Parts: sequence; structure tokens; C-alpha cells
Amino acid sequence: MSAFILEKLCRGCKHCVNSCPEGAITMLSHLAVVDPAKCVECEACMEACMHGAITFVEMGESKRNG
Ligand code: SF4
Ligand code: SF4
Repeated sequence: MSAFILEKLCRGCKHCVNSCPEGAITMLSHLAVVDPAKCVECEACMEACMHGAITFVEMGESKRNG
């Protein structure tokens, strides 16, 4: 599990990039992208994002029905 960017909610403000102590977040075009290999799940980025665009999900579990 690592931080996961909800692309539809990301505004490209880069606050999460600056908040990440591991340098795990980079900007790809106007979207934030998390490198799961670097993420330590500290949740700092989630707190920094004021658009609610960051969540934590198990891989492959983001499209559950219901
Ligand atoms: S802080 Fe949130 S809205 Fe801003 S770039 Fe990061 S994920 Fe996108
Ligand atoms: S949870 Fe922590 S280590 Fe992972 S991307 Fe967010 S700020 Fe970086």
C-alpha cells in the first residue's frame, strides 16, 4: 500500500511534493505521481493536500463495487 493520487481531484498545486520527506512524489505534467517504491506511508502528503486528492489503497482494490 502506498499513497495514491486521485487524478480527477488533483489540482497540480505541488503541496504534496513539498510535504513528502522521501521525495516519493513528482509532478507528471500537472498531476502528482507517487513512486510506490519510495513511499513510506507517512500520510504527510494526504494532510498537505487540501483537495482531498490523496488516499491510501491496496493495489487493485480501488475499483470495488458497492
Ligand atoms: S497536494 Fe493534492 S492537489 Fe496538490 S498536487 Fe498534490 S495531490 Fe494534487
Ligand atoms: S505517504 Fe509520506 S512517503 Fe508516501 S508519498 Fe505521501 S508524504 Fe511521501
